[in-house]
Amino acid sequence: MTLALHGTGVSRGIAIGTAHILERGELEIPQKTIPSYLIQAEISRYQFALQVASQQLRVIQDHIPKHTPKDIAAFIDTHLLMIDDPMLKEGPITIIAQKQCNAEHAIKTQGDQIIAVFQEMDDPYLRTRKDDIEHVVNRIQRILLNQPSEKSNIIDKLRGQIIIADDLSPADTILMQHHDVVAIISELGGPTSHTAILARSLNIPAIVGAKHIRQYIKNGERIIIDSLANVIIVDPDNKILTHYYEHQKSLLRKQASLHNLKLKPSNTQDRKKIALYANIELPEDLSGVKKVAASGIGLFRTEFLFMNRTQLPDENEQYQVYLRVIKSLKGLPVTIRTLDLGADKNFHINMDSEFPEKSSALGLRAIRLCLKDPSLFKPQLRAILRASAHGPVKLMIPMISNLLECQQVLELLETCKQELKKRRLKFDNKLPVGCMIETPAAALMAQTLANHTDFLSIGTNDLIQYTLAIDRIDTQVSYLYDPLHPAVLQLIQKTIKAGIKAGIPVSLCGEMAGEPVYTRLLLGMGLKEFSMHPSTLLEVKEMVRSSNTKKLTTLTNKILKCETSDEVASYLQKINSL
Ligand code: PEP
Ligand code: MG
Repeated sequence: MTLALHGTGVSRGIAIGTAHILERGELEIPQKTIPSYLIQAEISRYQFALQVASQQLRVIQDHIPKHTPKDIAAFIDTHLLMIDDPMLKEGPITIIAQKQCNAEHAIKTQGDQIIAVFQEMDDPYLRTRKDDIEHVVNRIQRILLNQPSEKSNIIDKLRGQIIIADDLSPADTILMQHHDVVAIISELGGPTSHTAILARSLNIPAIVGAKHIRQYIKNGERIIIDSLANVIIVDPDNKILTHYYEHQKSLLRKQASLHNLKLKPSNTQDRKKIALYANIELPEDLSGVKKVAASGIGLFRTEFLFMNRTQLPDENEQYQVYLRVIKSLKGLPVTIRTLDLGADKNFHINMDSEFPEKSSALGLRAIRLCLKDPSLFKPQLRAILRASAHGPVKLMIPMISNLLECQQVLELLETCKQELKKRRLKFDNKLPVGCMIETPAAALMAQTLANHTDFLSIGTNDLIQYTLAIDRIDTQVSYLYDPLHPAVLQLIQKTIKAGIKAGIPVSLCGEMAGEPVYTRLLLGMGLKEFSMHPSTLLEVKEMVRSSNTKKLTTLTNKILKCETSDEVASYLQKINSL
């Protein structure tokens, strides 16, 4: 029976293959008392296990294929360093001697302590490095227990298969490289997990956080991964399979030809320069941005720094992350959006109890939450200001529904500037500030907002949700989610016109910007800046380069007069076949 399961797609693409479930097999760690006269022997057994662990990793290191991404090789170096670190080299030995216990128990005790410390860390990158500790500890324990460390015994049979595991270690991944694994699904992990980072580096489709998926899939069963749509289809029927084979083939053909566009300018046929920016959520996404030579970052969704943690990142931590992004962009502009927490982006931080952990799409989210709690917002404003001293930065405010909110941000920003001056810290005094147009109210008042700010950016994901009154995460009403609804198009048009009249740039950074089917219509409406997931940028560039904006006017005007989405869709076909 065909089944659709969900997770988080972290590396784009489609894969079709057979399921190979990697059972790690939970390790049972025995706890034994060791008599005094055998303590030295137990310590020697532990030391020998460390030697074997290093040896195993060196063998893997020696077999890293030439084209292996640096990220993966670096993980192996890290693991080797950890084995040599006193915390693993000496800590468990002290425990064996003091507690008179077996080596397996000693390394477990030490490992748990180290992991607890990592979990407390503020830096999300460092916090996820607890995975490294887990992998190293697991390797040593397996040696002590005489169990195979790598899944190498099964990895031999993996050609053409989709690996399904609780989690994968870097070593597993390196071995998989030799065996043409087509995709990875993991039950654990989020966008910063090892599996996610490694899958992105290997450029294979992957879905992480697919909880309990191993309960629903049998070994050898045919599955499809559509990591763009965050979906795993188990046992697809022939119709679905044929659809995905076609889809996959055309994607692969396209990818190959699109790559040639990377360094070509994004100009239209009538020589209009169109800026194609990338949307990012974490600094880890930067490698994707470089691969497509984006014009800069048009949307940095900073809320991801605040999610899945118990403590707020402080000003300095945020500053360091923004700095890393700015430096990596080498002079290209970076638009940092202030916190857009709430609604579908839950947070679990220790805030004043008056703030709920979850808020609805119409509730205390995004700028509303930030303005309500300056202790949450001001460190971010200061961090962005400080980062602005190091490159072209813009500050973007989400979910604006009236001018007052915008003015309040500008006032708070002023206060933050004064605070930084007192601390003798540098910032760009002319840091451009822009509003996102995500609510019908903001779109209707776009002219007013444009007169008070430096740029506008249309967030169509939310604009569609609020204009059409449909919760964007409620699958029951997803059939109503319609970018071509005449009301949505009119609000977009109004915003673009307001920007042109005020002489400020207008970009569009919702998913619509990354869908080539809408590119010509948006160009026809006068849009000159698009910001999207890097993986769709070259397709949009191809569309831009094949368009002549002068020829788009007549059909665009017809589209803007349409009364139904169906009518719009039929004109859209015409505009796309010009
Ligand atoms: C949008 O709403 O279009 C947008 C870009 O913001 P997000 O998807 O992060 O809500
Ligand atoms: Mg939004």
